[in-house]
Amino acid sequence: MSEQPKAGQLTLVAPRRAKPQRHLADLTMAERRAAVVELGEKPFRADQLSRHYFARLTGSPEQMTDLPGDSRDRLVEQLMPSLLTSVREITCDDGMTRKTLWKLFDGSLVESVLMRYPDRVTMCVSSQAGCGMNCPFCATGQAGLTRNMSTAEIVEQVVAGARALARGDVPGGPGRISNIVFMGMGEPMANYKAVVGAVHRLVDPAPEGLGISARGVTVSTVGLVPAIEKLSREGLPVTLAVSLHAPDDELRDTLVPINTRWKVAEVLDAAWNYAAITKRRISIEYALIKDINDQEWRADLLGRLLKGKLVHVNLIPLNPTPGSKWTASRPEDERAFVRRLEFHGVPVTVRDTRGREIDGACGQLAAATPV
Ligand code: SAH
Repeated sequence: MSEQPKAGQLTLVAPRRAKPQRHLADLTMAERRAAVVELGEKPFRADQLSRHYFARLTGSPEQMTDLPGDSRDRLVEQLMPSLLTSVREITCDDGMTRKTLWKLFDGSLVESVLMRYPDRVTMCVSSQAGCGMNCPFCATGQAGLTRNMSTAEIVEQVVAGARALARGDVPGGPGRISNIVFMGMGEPMANYKAVVGAVHRLVDPAPEGLGISARGVTVSTVGLVPAIEKLSREGLPVTLAVSLHAPDDELRDTLVPINTRWKVAEVLDAAWNYAAITKRRISIEYALIKDINDQEWRADLLGRLLKGKLVHVNLIPLNPTPGSKWTASRPEDERAFVRRLEFHGVPVTVRDTRGREIDGACGQLAAATPV
């Protein structure tokens, strides 16, 4: 485990650790074919394996009856190792919200959250064990960064959710995942390569990937400007969410410490550029913290920064985290904040607090060891 960071301390490069075993989901289709050939099999076995994993969502050799018995076990052992072990599952909302605590091969802990709504199923996934961004109001940041997750470790969270839904384990009958948000533990843009690989596996059509629409995928960032610029050139039209939380540098320097590297204006410029290239609306995340960032003048300043842009503001009533001295805004201040933004013609919604009672809402994922 990592040490608790000092106030404002950033960890941009993840500690070097032993890597998890290679998995099919780490690889492109061409790499999968090369990998099976390396194991002494014909290239088309990679297609068969991909179909089992990404289309049929199966990982058990017994079900892969189109593969000869002896190669089956070997291929599964070599290319579909089990990377995540479920340690604990907690549900609320009559089972419609479920948070899973996962143990990785080296004992690192991460969490993912599945949320079923009448019209969609959203999975919130982690991209790092811990986080190095150290935002003082976020539980994940307080424990520091343990390590980056691999592409397959990220994808496996989604596949596990997809399997649970397909099996009918989530109330409401069998279903499919429609939306993925990279809003679990970690800063996705600080684990760029693995995250972009994971996005490919999610959106590439089956059996190459899971075939989830890129429109349903959101990558959330504190604002690592060079990575945002790079993402805009990937040809992956995913939604970009920027965790802004303050419209002015003075306050944002303390709430989102990366602001000491890249200022509000630079982050927003990168975001508008992203929107221009991808034609996707930018999501601005803004946790409303009582008497800290919820003043009307800040709403006004935010409105002026965002007006006329391809943007949507998500206001998040601050979720409680252990040891935090802050709380959510008063309802009347929240309403006034919304009204100010609307005055500037900026689309705004207040996010629901799904999963709050199981510490599964925004900023609450700490992967605490089960008691
Ligand atoms: N590191 C990325 C991905 C995490 S997303 C990012 O920060 O964007 C998690 C979202 O929840 C971020 O917008 C984060 O700022 C927000 N958040 C963190 N702590 C919170 C809290 N206590 N209450 C409400 N939102 C919080």
